[in-house]
Amino acid sequence: MTTLFEKIISGEVPCDKVFENERVFAFKDIAPQAPVHILIIPKKPIENIAAVTQEDQALLGEILVVAQKIAKEQNLESFRLITNSGRGSGQEVFHLHFHLLGGRQLGSLG
Ligand code: 5GP
Repeated sequence: MTTLFEKIISGEVPCDKVFENERVFAFKDIAPQAPVHILIIPKKPIENIAAVTQEDQALLGEILVVAQKIAKEQNLESFRLITNSGRGSGQEVFHLHFHLLGGRQLGSLG
């Protein structure tokens, strides 16, 4: 089944794009939880961290490097990068994504 984020990557669903290369895509969250709230995703449709394989190792590293680049561009001295994996964690969209949050004092994780 095609997820919402695949439709965002293809342009079928519009988004506020922040970054794109052949493998990674980033866009602003529609319901921001902080002044900066950007979702960083692989173009490859992987459900979540629980579904990654050895084959995805370089891709996951690249996502972290892209996150660092975006955080710098957004002038974030401090930021949080989180990913939900599974319904019990609050995951709503089953296409791997990392939330980049910053621009305010962030509370403890709960
Ligand atoms: P999850 O809860 O799965 O970790 O995060 C999904 C995120 O996707 C949520 O923060 C939610 O606000 C965001 N989201 C859901 N639908 C859309 C949409 O149509 N466009 C954008 N830009 N973000 C969305």
